[in-house]
Amino acid sequence: MILINSIKNKILIFAILATLIPSAGLGLLSYLQNEAMVTNNVAQQLQTLATDANRELKHWLEARIIEVRTLSTSNAVTKGLSPSSLMSATKNARLLPHYLRLVKDKLNPLLQLTVLNPSGKIVASSSDTPAPVILPSAWPQTTVTDGVIIDTPHWSQHYRTVTLRLAVPVLSLDDEVMGTLVAVVDLNTLLPSLKYAAKISPGDILLLDLAGKPLFGTHSDDASFEPIARQVLQQLREEEGKPITFAGHLQKRVLGLAVMPQTLPVVVVVERDRADIYQAWAAFRNLFLSLMIGLTLLVGFIAWQMGRSIVIPLEHLTSAADHIAAGDLTVQLPVAQRDELGHLTQVFNQMTGNLRQSRDEFEAASQTLQKQNKLLEKLSITDSLTGLYNRKKLDDILADQLARFKRNQRPFTLLMLDIDHFKKLNDTYGHLAGDQVLASIARTFSNSIRNIDFVARYGGEEFVIVLPETALSAARDMAERILTQVRSASYQFNDQSIVVTLSIGVAISQSSDESADTLLARTDRMLYEAKRAGRDRVICTDDQSS
Ligand code: GH3
Ligand code: MG
Ligand code: MG
Repeated sequence: MILINSIKNKILIFAILATLIPSAGLGLLSYLQNEAMVTNNVAQQLQTLATDANRELKHWLEARIIEVRTLSTSNAVTKGLSPSSLMSATKNARLLPHYLRLVKDKLNPLLQLTVLNPSGKIVASSSDTPAPVILPSAWPQTTVTDGVIIDTPHWSQHYRTVTLRLAVPVLSLDDEVMGTLVAVVDLNTLLPSLKYAAKISPGDILLLDLAGKPLFGTHSDDASFEPIARQVLQQLREEEGKPITFAGHLQKRVLGLAVMPQTLPVVVVVERDRADIYQAWAAFRNLFLSLMIGLTLLVGFIAWQMGRSIVIPLEHLTSAADHIAAGDLTVQLPVAQRDELGHLTQVFNQMTGNLRQSRDEFEAASQTLQKQNKLLEKLSITDSLTGLYNRKKLDDILADQLARFKRNQRPFTLLMLDIDHFKKLNDTYGHLAGDQVLASIARTFSNSIRNIDFVARYGGEEFVIVLPETALSAARDMAERILTQVRSASYQFNDQSIVVTLSIGVAISQSSDESADTLLARTDRMLYEAKRAGRDRVICTDDQSS
């Protein structure tokens, strides 16, 4: 499942299957067809070879029979069997063995010639020690005219070859059986003809006796000449002419068939090594397999590359989309392809560009708005002439300080400052000069207070300074200092130096203060007292109580 979760793997699997299924199918078909074709061809070749071998055997045997039959009619043989010769050791009787030896030496396949009298006794032989011959008890009637007795071929220890005995009747001129001519024939002289046949149609020819014992074969390696198993022989004989696979005489798997010649009691087996037969076919199979593997690898590689060419841009797009989702709009993807993905990437870049532009514009607008808001906020709490907090902000500060005081019981102090005879100043120097003096005094206040303190314009020429967590004595000291600073400062207007004095009322917060107004009223009372006492001075609440 994990495998087909990726597009790349899907393409790869599809491509490999699309290559493997048809090519493996076709390959298998042609493989099977080839096998059938090879088997058919070889079967035909084997059948041809078997027919050729059978024909060669027939011709060879016919030639031998003609030879022996011709010999049986020779003068020397008939005279040798004449009653006069048999009765006495005449010259004729002595000549016959000599004649037989002579003929045997001339005719190569003949190994021994023996002449028997009608009762089966040896009359003469080419051999000095002829083996006794036992003829069938009743000579077949047909043999009088065309019969020949052929016994089973076998290995002769004496001649060290495979021999065959042919017996033909020796007939008188009036067709009476005078005796028998028995020839021991070298069956091996058939081998060159068989070898020649095996050259024309490839394969080995093997001659077996009826018990399955090998007599000889065209195969050169006789060392491991093994008899063919009885069941195999039986099967070969039953399936005469049809090829079967079996363990051949060289103990290799062979494809072979058997024929049973009518002329001779032998089995002719023709066979071919399966490994040889299927060599070409196996080479074809190997070539096909390597081609298929090569093709699959090639297609796999191409599919892998194709998958990559699709998936990598997609991965880039996905990762870029993730970045954008996380707020990073700086992503810009390279457009390497001219296909649909390339177009998608291009559009994606365009979209990102537009988003970036919109965001920049939005951010710029938002910043402007923020600045404006801040300005508005500042304006809403600032007095425009002096730049100090206005009355509204003072109310908030006082409410906040009063709440803190209620929480932590650390009192704060209020200074209320009023310019002395300011009306007169306005009247003397003009309203503009009055404004400038107000602004200058405000700067003096700002410079005199601590970071934690607040200063606000309370009214026309009245100011309030809030000193958090400050005792009355410290507040008075600060008030005195401000008083001195303002008095000693020289405020300039149109080259004129204006002297200004202040009256300051000071009060500290009390637990009983229900609201800031209570405290303000108390401070205002102190200011009033300062005015009343002659101005240019500080009056504290504790001055009152003392
Ligand atoms: P006192 O010593 O008793 O305080 O006398 P005063 O003249 O200072 O007090 P009064 O309350 O009689 O006069 C205050 C004057 O302050 C009146 C007003 O014209 C002037 N004033 C108030 N606001 C401004 C302002 O913003 N600019 C100018 N130039 N004058 C102002
Ligand atoms: Mg005044
Ligand atoms: Mg006043």
